[in-house]
Amino acid sequence: MFGLFKGAQPKTVHIEGLDAPLQVNPRETILTAALRQGVRFPHSCRVGGCASCKCQLKRGTVKELTESAYILSEQDLAQGYILACQAVPKTDLTIRVDNLQAGGPDFSPARVAGTVAQIHRHTHDIVELAITLEQPLSYAAGQYALLSVPGLIETPRSYSFATAPLAGGNRDIRFFIRAVPGGQMSQWAQQPSLVGTAVQVEGPFGDFYLRDSEQPILCIAGGSGLAPVKALLEDALAFKCARPVTFLFGARTQRDLYCLDALRTLQQNWATDFRFIPVLSEEPVTSDWRGARGLVTDFIAAHAQPHAQVYMCGPPAMLDAAEPHLLRAGIPAEQIFSDRFLDRSALARSA
Ligand SMILES: Cc1cc2nc3c(=O)[nH]c(=O)nc-3n(C[C@H](O)[C@H](O)[C@H](O)COP(=O)(O)OP(=O)(O)OC[C@H]3O[C@@H](n4cnc5c(N)ncnc54)[C@H](O)[C@@H]3O)c2cc1C
Repeated sequence: MFGLFKGAQPKTVHIEGLDAPLQVNPRETILTAALRQGVRFPHSCRVGGCASCKCQLKRGTVKELTESAYILSEQDLAQGYILACQAVPKTDLTIRVDNLQAGGPDFSPARVAGTVAQIHRHTHDIVELAITLEQPLSYAAGQYALLSVPGLIETPRSYSFATAPLAGGNRDIRFFIRAVPGGQMSQWAQQPSLVGTAVQVEGPFGDFYLRDSEQPILCIAGGSGLAPVKALLEDALAFKCARPVTFLFGARTQRDLYCLDALRTLQQNWATDFRFIPVLSEEPVTSDWRGARGLVTDFIAAHAQPHAQVYMCGPPAMLDAAEPHLLRAGIPAEQIFSDRFLDRSALARSA
């Protein structure tokens, strides 16, 4: 009789090295419970696509919401690694987390109602969506939030904050949203008539933030991946960061470049070297473009110093292509930080 209700009981998850265990509600993932309880669990996409939240299951069993085998290595799987964002405990658990964070952002996620305040078109497929929140939301530059539209798009989508945070939290937040063909939220966001529409914002999430260091910074962004990189650099400027920056910004043609004034302002006010290199992959050869042509990855070897720290954001294909070039340039994997803008097509493929 009691067995019938067994699955509906909260479970306890012990994280090795932490005194207080997590209480995980029925159907809740380990990651959601950890973030809800203020544990700085490493994570990024939260949808099973990046493996930032992998942890080792030492005791107990979990139900996996998506197949983790495609993203974890054979060695990880053999050692019992699971994805915390996709694992719902079936029993009490003990897990080990390799990189429980020290020194990263520790804002507990909050759910806040807001209203679309403004839509600004940056390019033919990227808009800036400005939202006024009912209460201020604190975040670290580089992090993202979950956006939903009550009554219309209830399944939230992730968007990175495009501006630097303010002390005490932001009531005005901005996202850069690129139209994805057949995409529900990103097509919704392209409409000019959205001002006044009620939205829900939950966050912050993610561990894409500027690490404390003296190392030179290499940023790589493509499309709307500019949002978190711009926020991160604007925040660093406000804190008088003096690390040299090289910023490779990948776009197809000149009409895909945007925020150039904001980037120029950053460059002019930066305390040390700031090289901004837009790279166009499909610009007509007959055009007046005198800048770099090709793929962003073609320029990594020339600009990546082995002691640089890398921050990259954008389409997963671009990030996947960039990583081997960075490793070949001598940059260790631990110095490469990225946010992959995964969408549901990628997740459907992995499932
Ligand atoms: C951490 C993170 C940060 C992000 N930040 C940003 C950002 O700042 N800016 C930005 O523009 N994007 C960002 N993204 C991507 C964003 O969250 C959305 O995925 C993107 O906007 C597409 O959402 P959508 O609702 O328009 O598309 P969806 O409706 O989710 O569809 C996406 C694509 O998948 C296809 N599809 C849908 N369902 C299925 C299915 N079942 N099987 C196969 N194909 C399917 C659709 O046809 C479409 O082509 C981020 C993603 C992550 C993970």
